Amino acid sequence: MKESLEVHLLGTSGGRAKGKHNVCIYLPETVIIDAGNIFALDGERLLKIEHIILTHSHLDHLVDLPFLIDYTYGLRTKPLKVYGLSHTLGSLRKNIMNWDIWPEFGTLKLPMTDEYAVEYIEMQPQREYKIDGYSIMPLESKHTVPTISIMVKKNGKGFVYTSDTYKNPSLWEMVEKDTEIKAVFVDVSFPSYMSMVAQASMHNTPQSLSEDLKFLNRKDVKVYALHIKPSHQLEVVKELKSMNRRVYPLTGARKMKI
Ligand SMILES: [Zn+2]
Ligand SMILES: [Zn+2]
Repeated sequence: MKESLEVHLLGTSGGRAKGKHNVCIYLPETVIIDAGNIFALDGERLLKIEHIILTHSHLDHLVDLPFLIDYTYGLRTKPLKVYGLSHTLGSLRKNIMNWDIWPEFGTLKLPMTDEYAVEYIEMQPQREYKIDGYSIMPLESKHTVPTISIMVKKNGKGFVYTSDTYKNPSLWEMVEKDTEIKAVFVDVSFPSYMSMVAQASMHNTPQSLSEDLKFLNRKDVKVYALHIKPSHQLEVVKELKSMNRRVYPLTGARKMKI
């Protein structure tokens, strides 16, 4: 039996509401993919985080990052490594870490060591990154700004997190072929009757997802829907239940083994 891959979904929502937290995936003990709800972790665990992978520049995916840097600044001894596309990192530094909204910790040295508080690492799609024992591969997503989906593997098992996306058949064709992939976490933000808004903002509905799922025939891949808009959760969940292929809605934090 292969050792399982542990995934903690600290947040799965496509918006904020009471009890709803933005998408945030924690790979114990040092890696976070999208900074939607990092403070679900306690202080001891927060200090162990070394790698933050950002899929794109939208606020719901990076909101906790400035606060994490602030919280750990005086306590950490190594830089926090922030990974993303050049557009994502550029936008973060230009619009948030700009000494106006927040300090640019990339230019500040840690008080305990001579190292900078933040190190920015540009990612290229289709390239494998070895990060703390995980194999991480960014893949191109289909969204309004440059965005990556993330494939994670460890011990011969893996999953794909699409991040925000509209229809992307080539991603599902890849999942169909790669038998190590056992789960997909896919953006299903809006109910199908809001297809105009979904298409304009480049998010899936159950209808657009079902078109992509024609490319996935394997039954051993579990498909989970996340990034559901809290104000449309009931409608999206109801629609997902009536789909031919089983798609499991994620409406709150969840720990799972893949
Ligand atoms: Zn987005
Ligand atoms: Zn989003």
